[in-house]
Amino acid sequence: MRGTTNNINVERRTKILIILGIAALIVAFQPRIARAEWTVHHTQFVSILYENEGDLETLFKRVDGSSLSRLFGGGKYSEEKLEKVVDELLRRVGELLGMRTKGVSVKIKLYKDKRTMGAEVFPFLKGNIAPAFYFAAQDTIYVSLDDLDANILAHEFTHALLYHHFDKPVPMVTQEILCQYIDLNI
Ligand SMILES: [Zn+2]
Repeated sequence: MRGTTNNINVERRTKILIILGIAALIVAFQPRIARAEWTVHHTQFVSILYENEGDLETLFKRVDGSSLSRLFGGGKYSEEKLEKVVDELLRRVGELLGMRTKGVSVKIKLYKDKRTMGAEVFPFLKGNIAPAFYFAAQDTIYVSLDDLDANILAHEFTHALLYHHFDKPVPMVTQEILCQYIDLNI
């Protein structure tokens, strides 16, 4: 009898240890879950999703290398300047395409580099992906900050605006021709 009681105690203890182990694992993985949360910064036309404090400034610096930045004095970063530059870039793309931008709302998701972006979106491609792309199903532009410039963002804004203005998707060849037109004229 004694032996049986001991066996039950051992079983119970094992169960408790397993439950405690699972609880510890859940606690251990909490920070990772929390880190995967995105912060959103809204401009007039765009919702910018980012993970790290410096990402908005990096975005500004990347787009600031263009002629557009001169309109706003370029140079030192501020959230207000970033909003102006990003919105003005989208407005210009709309103007060149002859498309209204009023009421347009696009998401931009910022990643440090192609490797980080690829790991989340296309893990099987091992970072061998474009520096930016537009996912129409999510109405979201994915961006690798390491590779970004104003022309790349204007290219993706073109895809986004075409998606917003037509009920049926514009053929990809036509989209890329219009992207080239924007690239040459922005
Ligand atoms: Zn394209």
